[in-house]
Amino acid sequence: METDFSYIDENYKRILNNVSEAAAKYRKPEEKIRIMAVTKTVDPAAVNHAIGLGIDLLGENRVQEYMSKKDAYKDAEVHFIGHLQTNKVKYIIDSVKLIQSVDSLKLAEEIDKHANRAGKIQDILIELNIGGEESKSGIDRSMLDELICRTAELEHVRIKGLMAIPPALGPEKFLCEMQEIYEDISGKNIKNVSMDILSMGMSGDYVQAIKYGSNLVRIGSALFGARIYK
Ligand SMILES: *Cc1c(COP(=O)(O)O)cnc(C)c1O
Repeated sequence: METDFSYIDENYKRILNNVSEAAAKYRKPEEKIRIMAVTKTVDPAAVNHAIGLGIDLLGENRVQEYMSKKDAYKDAEVHFIGHLQTNKVKYIIDSVKLIQSVDSLKLAEEIDKHANRAGKIQDILIELNIGGEESKSGIDRSMLDELICRTAELEHVRIKGLMAIPPALGPEKFLCEMQEIYEDISGKNIKNVSMDILSMGMSGDYVQAIKYGSNLVRIGSALFGARIYK
C-alpha cells in the first residue's frame, strides 16, 4: 500500500517559505539557517519522504526508538536532541554527528570516554534551561559558565554552540536572552569552545527564533503533523 505523503510536501513548502521570509527580514544574506526534521513517533517511510524533499538533518529524541529506526532511514545527518542517560551514550556515539542535549558534566564526561574509545571527537551543544522550568532538562543559567569551562577541558568533546527549548507560552523574551548569552560566550573566545550553532525554534516559534539568531530550527509537528503516541 502506498501511503499519501502529500501533506508533508505542503508542510515543507510552507516551512521553507516561512524560514526564507524570516531570514530575509531579520538576518544577513550570508547567514544560513538549517531546518531539522524531528522524527519522534514518525514512521521511517514518512521521514524518508521528507529526506526525498531535501531535508538533510534529522533530530532524534529517544535512544531506543532511534536504534529501531536508523537502518530504515535514507542518508541524512543525525543529531541527538532528547534527554540522554549516561548509560545510553554508547549506543549512539558511532552514528550521531552532534549531541545537542548535554546538560551536565557527568554526561559530558561519559561522552568524552566513549568518544575516546570510538577514536573520535564528539561535537556537542550545551542545552540551557532558559525558562528555569522544573519539567525541562537543560543546565540552569547560573551553572552554565562552569559547565562550559569544565567541559572545554575534555579532550574528546567539542562544544559547538547552545540549544534551548524556551517556554511555549511567551517564548520571545527567552529567545532574546538566548541570543545574548550565545553572543556573550562567543565574545569570550574560550579555548575549545566555538559558538557556531544556536539551536532554537520549534513548530510554534521558529520564525521568532530566527529573529533572535537561531541558525538551526527543529521542526516536528509542523512538518509531519500532530504526534500520535502509541
Ligand atoms: C519534539 C521536539 C521538537 C519538535 O517539536 P514540535 O513542536 O513538534 O516542532 C524540537 N526539539 C526537541 C528537543 C523536541 O523534543
